[in-house]
Amino acid sequence: MSAEKILQVKGLRYRYPEGQEALRGVDLEILEGETLVIVGPNGAGKSTLLLCMAGLYPAEGTVLYRGEPLRGLQDPRRLEIGFLFQNPDDQLFSLTVFEDVAFGPRQMGLPEEEVARRVREALERVGLSGFEDRSPHHLSFGEKRRVALATVLSMQPRVLLLDEPTSNLDPRSRRRFVDLMRNLGQTKILATHDLEAAYEVADRVILFYQGRVVHQGPPQEVLFDRDLLERYGLELPFFVQFLEETGDARKDSPSRLSS
Ligand code: ADP
Repeated sequence: MSAEKILQVKGLRYRYPEGQEALRGVDLEILEGETLVIVGPNGAGKSTLLLCMAGLYPAEGTVLYRGEPLRGLQDPRRLEIGFLFQNPDDQLFSLTVFEDVAFGPRQMGLPEEEVARRVREALERVGLSGFEDRSPHHLSFGEKRRVALATVLSMQPRVLLLDEPTSNLDPRSRRRFVDLMRNLGQTKILATHDLEAAYEVADRVILFYQGRVVHQGPPQEVLFDRDLLERYGLELPFFVQFLEETGDARKDSPSRLSS
């Protein structure tokens, strides 16, 4: 992993127009190539943080990309930061999968041949080759989420912001999506309350609570600390309880849960 800071968040604050203060001064540094997972209970501000980092909400504070502040939504460097919405229906709006996955590359002004190549590659990446002519709205939820990811990947971003990427998936779709994320080379920042997924993909876990970062550390430390998790509205994950009960030392193994 390179030690270059790809993203830095400095003093990020955001208050919803209704008055709810969702971010109360967030500072973060993300290294190129790392997978950072933000965990926290419902309402902690995880989604708001990602939306502000993506420039979709006008937060106070600064987000720097490769050391330079990002300026507004029009900043061309934002094309290097992809965003996967929690609800795939927020990302899919075309009549065919092809059109949806082609949308970003076309907006970038790429020639149609290159657009088609990127669509093919992105669909292959998410395991949906051959879905080009399907209607996104008639797919299963798990397929929709993978198409939504393909719409992001076709733009070849360097950073992926993923909001609750495993929510509402059945066990097999969830497993597939976790494996897919593990195989993506980009720098990734995930917001989730799926602690098992966090354990499987994270290089570093951030504990987020009431609009602030309250703790950060390696998954083997944060996700195994019952007191810490309970203090901030989370529970020791079931798999950790199971490993503890069985005296299993698998937490020390980087091959993690699938082994
Ligand atoms: P999380 O993703 O951790 O569940 P959110 O970022 O969705 O948390 O929410 C953080 C806080 O902001 C919560 O108190 C929530 O009620 C509030 N909030 C979220 N979305 C909106 C919105 N569109 N309008 C007003 N308040 C919101």
